[in-house]
Amino acid sequence: MIEQSHADVAVVGGGVAGMVAANRLAQLGVLAMVLEQGESERYLCNSRYTGGTFHICFRDVMSDENALTQAIIESTAGFVPRALAVAIAVDGRRLVRWLQDEGARFMKASGAEYHRWVLAPPARSRPGLDWEGRGGDVLLRTLEANLLRRGGSVVRGARARSLLIADGQCRGVIAQRGGQEIGCRTRAVILADGGFQGNADLVKRHICARPERLKQRGAGTGRGDGLQMALDAGASVVGMDRFYGHVLSCDALVNDRLWPYPYVDSLATAGIVVGPAGERFVDEGRGGVYIANAIAQLADPLSATVIFDESIWEGPGRNGLIPANPHLPAVGGTLLRAHSLEALASELGIAASALASTVRSYNQALEAGTLISIAPLRSASRYPPRPIACAPFYAVPVCAGITNTMGGIAINEHAQALRTDGSPISGLYVAGAAAGGIEGGPALGYVGGLAKCGVTALRAAEHIARACGATPIAA
Ligand SMILES: Cc1cc2nc3c(=O)[nH]c(=O)nc-3n(C[C@H](O)[C@H](O)[C@H](O)COP(=O)(O)OP(=O)(O)OC[C@H]3O[C@@H](n4cnc5c(N)ncnc54)[C@H](O)[C@@H]3O)c2cc1C
Repeated sequence: MIEQSHADVAVVGGGVAGMVAANRLAQLGVLAMVLEQGESERYLCNSRYTGGTFHICFRDVMSDENALTQAIIESTAGFVPRALAVAIAVDGRRLVRWLQDEGARFMKASGAEYHRWVLAPPARSRPGLDWEGRGGDVLLRTLEANLLRRGGSVVRGARARSLLIADGQCRGVIAQRGGQEIGCRTRAVILADGGFQGNADLVKRHICARPERLKQRGAGTGRGDGLQMALDAGASVVGMDRFYGHVLSCDALVNDRLWPYPYVDSLATAGIVVGPAGERFVDEGRGGVYIANAIAQLADPLSATVIFDESIWEGPGRNGLIPANPHLPAVGGTLLRAHSLEALASELGIAASALASTVRSYNQALEAGTLISIAPLRSASRYPPRPIACAPFYAVPVCAGITNTMGGIAINEHAQALRTDGSPISGLYVAGAAAGGIEGGPALGYVGGLAKCGVTALRAAEHIARACGATPIAA
């Protein structure tokens, strides 16, 4: 084993979480080394692909802290401990200001509140993946340059696999690089490896019985290594069954122009989503992230279809920066169209009477104001339901696109990894998508991946620096 000890702290993963943490440490006088499994200069990760919107529960990160705290607690129905909710709400604004000082550029992407702070330059309004020279890519390169200038380092091609634990304290990490083991003895380790969506076994155990039927809507580089290392060190996990993702055309599994955009959430939340028997199985009013999770839980996650009509196709179908209308059919996504629901059902291979009956009951309940009492209920506060009555009728066969897992290693407000008894594991921290307990839960609240990454990273770095008694250096 080759020893690499020229750092105070090892950071596992060079995404936004890892790079923010390493820079904040270096700024505070603590030398950080980032271990990144990707080999190329522009190694892939979700942070490089990101849409770049910094929001908290779809609200402006600069909003009143109490209102943001409340939004996190309400959207997750109390799943998030108050101390973590407060941390995100209070530090979201500080994160954006800190990133600006690091050289990040933000812009307003639309008139929507949650689009106030978007990394520039944004992805172009076109289907498929578009990351080179876009906000996430530029941010990572800026942060890497800043880190090197501050004396930190990035070791590429190094996949961390185990922690050095002595007397219950984390004192370093062992990584594999080019067939060799490198050991880094450090005062602390920050796990920032991006979650476990890229590990089919873990996804199967916690999220979906048939992971091969989900579409990886990101880089898929999070393979749960950090999770496994933390578990071996006695950490506890939380909220493992939820993920951040969107509803995609099922053709996205074979057509790269259909992911990560356009997603079809706006059609799904305006129309209805049915299973193979033509029956609804989810409250569409809870939003695309919720629907994607429900699709993943179907016995066959490739058996869901979104049903809507002409007024939805021409209305909500055109919502968003890269809307399904016209992009979905333009790049080869299946869009079935028929002048009656019976004809649509026959194209789908669903019993015509079943689909017609589902739509009829839905329309009647909408008209009568009783959607709240049908099964499954259809909520209306976030996404207003619309009748499915105006021919032609449409169907889009869909799948769940998994972007990153929401659950993971339990942490406190300093981003310290916690044992099952709630005590922190000295020297072990978790930042970004690898951390659990900040979003998801039974209500599936989506708080915001980038805000979560940046805040946990800042907090981990600052706690370590305090513990080291470090002296801040010039930025
Ligand atoms: C298409 C897309 C759009 C998105 N849009 C938004 C948005 O607009 N707003 C928002 O809030 N969120 C968005 N997200 C989510 C957000 O980008 C992620 O939550 C965030 O980037 C995760 O950052 P991270 O640093 O935790 O993980 P990552 O960016 O995945 O970085 C983790 C890094 O760790 C490395 N790694 C993994 N295992 C190891 C190991 N064992 N050893 C060493 N290195 C390892 C990986 O190679 C990777 O480079 C989007 C994501 C995608 C894919």
